[in-house]
Amino acid sequence: MIQITIRRAPTQYSVRVEPGLLSRAGRELRSLAPGGRLLVVTDRNVARLHGSSFLASLRRAGLDADTIALPAGERSKTLETVRRICARWAGHRADRGAMVVALGGGVVSDVAGFAAASYARGLDWVVFPTTLLAQVDASIGGKVGVNLPLGKNLVGAFHQPRAVLSDPEVLATLPPRAFRSGLAEIAKMGVIRRPSILTRLERMARLDRLGDADSLAVLIAACAREKAWYISRDERDSGVRQYLNFGHTVGHALEAAYGYRRYTHGEAVSLGMAAALRLSVTLAGLDPVSAQDTEALLGRLGLPIRLDRTPGPDFWGALERDKKRGRTALRMVLSPAIGAVYSHDLHSLTALRHAVLSLVQNP
Ligand code: NAD
Repeated sequence: MIQITIRRAPTQYSVRVEPGLLSRAGRELRSLAPGGRLLVVTDRNVARLHGSSFLASLRRAGLDADTIALPAGERSKTLETVRRICARWAGHRADRGAMVVALGGGVVSDVAGFAAASYARGLDWVVFPTTLLAQVDASIGGKVGVNLPLGKNLVGAFHQPRAVLSDPEVLATLPPRAFRSGLAEIAKMGVIRRPSILTRLERMARLDRLGDADSLAVLIAACAREKAWYISRDERDSGVRQYLNFGHTVGHALEAAYGYRRYTHGEAVSLGMAAALRLSVTLAGLDPVSAQDTEALLGRLGLPIRLDRTPGPDFWGALERDKKRGRTALRMVLSPAIGAVYSHDLHSLTALRHAVLSLVQNP
């Protein structure tokens, strides 16, 4: 028997959060890819709103870039998109010296990161996340991939970027609903690990400073720091990284049950958190007042915390499929106190069913 031990060098990269970073993109990229060819992947909305200033900055820095702008939204997260991107890079004879630059939301970073992981067995890549959700969550941690008709994110890889460069100023052009979607993931980080994030969110909402780039920079950096804590300890999602799924069991089932059209990811996570908080009161000893206060904060942020109808068989079916993946039980992340979580195996869905049905308005 021949044993192979791969001694991999530890991966290290920085996440920077600074207003104005996008207009300095050229300078930043020149230091990361001296002389290398840049392969920019963006979507059409981001290209229209921020593409010209981004590309002008690259030109000023003397950088040569090929740019692909995908149709915006989840429909671009397919293997066909990855095939097209790779075919184009091959057409330009891109080699391992090239560096991929993802400029966009979570869809762009998932697709571009996966193409970067696959083309020529792996190109370096850098992310400029342009949605709040991508700045606090999707761009950090190296999970990249695409959807199949049978499920979200079914094909993918772990491929850490060389850097994540977040400019809160680009969020000024985000539609309000997409902005709120990111607030849900920020609130989640407060619940699972850092209650001061909830206090800060609460204060920013009260003072009407949620749109202020400097205040946002502090909040985004706080979340990025916490996400980095999880990734550094569990890159491959086999331990503590799973705590980031708080609110996502019910959230994913809602997204799937409504064909990914009714709720944005953050809206579904907000409802999932409301259910998980209520279940935490029943099963994990969470103080009911803390649960209610947190749920009320989600509401004040403009996120949904009530279902306007009883979820149908598609929703319960999605939860059952999730349960089958965990074999004998549905594994849920629960919170015994705000700022702490653990994994709880649900052998029966009764308590969860009760928590979800309690969210239905006028049942
Ligand atoms: P998205 O990338 O589809 O962006 C949402 C919309 O905002 C799009 O229409 C986009 O064109 C537009 N947009 C982006 N930046 C803009 C800007 N600055 N101004 C105006 N419009 C802008 O969606 P998202 O919410 O950023 O990300 C959702 C995706 O992220 C999902 O596919 C989800 O699975 C994935 N995700 C991945 C991870 C991960 O760890 N890899 C984590 C969470 C979510």
